[in-house]
Amino acid sequence: MQIEENLKRRLAVKPNADSKVLSVYLGIQPVWETSMGHAVEMLFDTAIASLQKNSDEGDAAPLERTLRLARDAIRQREWKPGGYALFAQDKARGLEIQELGAEVKTQAYWLEKPYLLPWIEALEESKRCGVILADKRRARVLTYRRGSIEEEKDLTAAESTRRFRTTGKDNLKSAFKLERTADLHEVWHLKRVIREAQALEKKHPFTRLMLGGTEESVHELENLLTPDLSAKVAGRFKARVEAQDQELLEHLEELETAADRDSEMRFVESLLKDDRPRPEVTLGLDAVLHHLDRGLVHRLVYSENFKPEGSQCTSCRYLFGPGRLVCGRCNSAVSRVPYLLEEMVRSALLQSGQIEKVRGEAARRLDHEGGTVAILKKKSKR
Ligand SMILES: [Zn+2]
Repeated sequence: MQIEENLKRRLAVKPNADSKVLSVYLGIQPVWETSMGHAVEMLFDTAIASLQKNSDEGDAAPLERTLRLARDAIRQREWKPGGYALFAQDKARGLEIQELGAEVKTQAYWLEKPYLLPWIEALEESKRCGVILADKRRARVLTYRRGSIEEEKDLTAAESTRRFRTTGKDNLKSAFKLERTADLHEVWHLKRVIREAQALEKKHPFTRLMLGGTEESVHELENLLTPDLSAKVAGRFKARVEAQDQELLEHLEELETAADRDSEMRFVESLLKDDRPRPEVTLGLDAVLHHLDRGLVHRLVYSENFKPEGSQCTSCRYLFGPGRLVCGRCNSAVSRVPYLLEEMVRSALLQSGQIEKVRGEAARRLDHEGGTVAILKKKSKR
């Protein structure tokens, strides 16, 4: 996962009880009936309603001031559909709005530091996908990222690709010959499309390739793909080459979700196989926290249902799961950590680890093992 600079900067922010941070995530959909600005304000109000309700007395005034600043900034901006994060502090200290380039669920937090998990997960989820859409006459090469499509190339096969209609004068033999010529032109056409997809792969690497179009052309494409591209094929769908974005998005979203679930399941199964325990895999919350503390996590894996509360030692900063009263390591007091997963993910990313959230069946499988598992860094030889 590529971490953007401005996310990396925020990962390292230390908590500050005297100056809380408002973090609001806005998932803005296209609107038709009202104005975009008005719709975004309404979305913002829904997101922050629970914060206002739950803030205690000492907290209410700074929260209200910060909300006013945020609301002003929202009013002044021209909005487009998409996912956004807004971070604001009292006294206009560093109000920032960040475009996420991915979908996000609308939600809000008022904490001692910015809440980053939705941003991190949006990045982790939005992998780039290559798409080829083809029939005999025309082909399009596209890129897809959850929720959006970009047109890269639109190719029309040469005139000669058209199947010739045989007239009464043609004898069977020449009709057959013409058919073969047309087939050959189709192959050229598809090979050209594949070259375009290869060029795209070089320019914007993608992890998956989806093939769409007529059944015949999809089949033919698969036969002609290079081994590299062939290994990336993660789904096939039937559609007209001239299909509109909305229709394509529906196909692609469905295919991507299926491909995700499938690869997550295989991944989790490979980690949990108990016939051959792997020393580099550690299971369960306590074990994972222990390895995070020591900076040994290469990849943190967790279930979508994993939402632990925990605590942190006020002195040695060790993270604990629920139910801890004092630090087991240095006996100091612990403070409550309501979003333990956020702390775990921060810690994993800061030790240049990777994260992966698994969903569906794979998540349920992981829940049996405590909801989280970590792959450890290779031990360096000393
Ligand atoms: Zn401690």
